[in-house]
Amino acid sequence: MVLDKLEILKDLFYGFGRDPHVNKGIFDHYLSKTSDTEPWVLKKAVQELLAGCQSLPRINDLLNSIKRFTPVAEHTTENCPKCGKDGLIYSIYCLKPDGTRMEVYNLDHKVITGAHYTTMIIGRCKCINGDQYAQVSHGSLSRAVEPLSYLLNSKWDSAFEASVIAKRLNKMANDFKPPTEKPMEKQLNKYDKS
Ligand SMILES: [Zn+2]
Repeated sequence: MVLDKLEILKDLFYGFGRDPHVNKGIFDHYLSKTSDTEPWVLKKAVQELLAGCQSLPRINDLLNSIKRFTPVAEHTTENCPKCGKDGLIYSIYCLKPDGTRMEVYNLDHKVITGAHYTTMIIGRCKCINGDQYAQVSHGSLSRAVEPLSYLLNSKWDSAFEASVIAKRLNKMANDFKPPTEKPMEKQLNKYDKS
């Protein structure tokens, strides 16, 4: 799957109430320091920091976290409809304007105006790609899980589907039209082509 490192770092900044555009200098610094990092490793590191820190972590804290998640050995991979090749299963989370967050469990979710939607790793895939994480100490990685059914897409893996839907949800949540109470299923099609 293709994970956008820009988007991952934006999650980090928004998660601590820092606008990446306003803090462009420091944002670009973080981006260049992580240029060699695998996107999923960056994702996992950012997720850990979002859960454990009170304010935007220093670049060294981010690099240390990246180091902890970088696999030490080469491993074999296979194409998998659930995880792609990474062996990781993602879910979508809604970071609400009030600072709380909730998982998006199905297409009945009502989009919250002004919220930020992001994907998060919830566990490892049950396939051979996921086996490499079985022994790691991080609880959320070593747990074998199934992706939520609404993320299963015949065209691509569920990890990529999660990132596609999260992007659309962000457009919907920050579309400055009157808020709507309709479930997102009815609105998603409108954003399909964008
Ligand atoms: Zn898999």
